[in-house]
Amino acid sequence: MRKGLRGSIVENLNSVTERIVTACRFCNRPADAVTLLAVSKTRPAADLRAAYTAGQRHFGENYLQEALDKQAELTDLDIVWHFIGPLQSNKTRDVAAHFHWLHTVDRLKVARRLSEQRPADLPPLNICLQVNIDAEESKSGIAPEELPALAAAVAGLPNLRLRGLMAIPAPRGASEDQRIPFRQLAVLLETLKAQLPEQPLDTLSMGMSADMEAAIFSGATIVRIGTDIFGARK
Ligand SMILES: *Cc1c(COP(=O)(O)O)cnc(C)c1O
Repeated sequence: MRKGLRGSIVENLNSVTERIVTACRFCNRPADAVTLLAVSKTRPAADLRAAYTAGQRHFGENYLQEALDKQAELTDLDIVWHFIGPLQSNKTRDVAAHFHWLHTVDRLKVARRLSEQRPADLPPLNICLQVNIDAEESKSGIAPEELPALAAAVAGLPNLRLRGLMAIPAPRGASEDQRIPFRQLAVLLETLKAQLPEQPLDTLSMGMSADMEAAIFSGATIVRIGTDIFGARK
């Protein structure tokens, strides 16, 4: 059940965390197998600070300038910053310098630039490759067939760390049906692990407010939750 949408940020965070624990218990996964990424796009820095004060550490942003503005207001907080929006190749420098994770790599050109631009004093940038799991015209991400070649190339870049896969499947009515694309993504990750045994491929970034449980049942390790923490966006 989704609940708490009308509560405070702290109440909503608690209720989402409770849902994660319940979903993990239901499928015999340890509760700490799933990291909650609070998706804070369009939200003011004060909202992130409120969530941080309640213990939230991972935040996801979609729009670069908006994210940089908030980061400048929150330099006193030890936040793990994830960029989860589409990234144009002329905007890679700021992501390379100001984020810990990028979930939406679907082109080698972008990956190469990020690796070149990652500042030498920072650890490698954590990367998820975005897969267009339902082959939707409107969505970013590569086709599953293109994954082995892109993954091998990205794995060879020195200042990136290839962590796993991300997808935004089309919404399906029933929760059981929603698990189908998530399971497909999980199988793709297993295939990649066999292909690239040296890589730290431990991440499935999948599941949003409406389909979080289906994603957790299918092996999600990062769920990206906006609405159910911060309320509906305008
Ligand atoms: C906005 C967004 C989310 C969060 O979606 P909600 O439905 O508000 O939980 C997750 N992932 C991506 C890539 C997004 O753009």
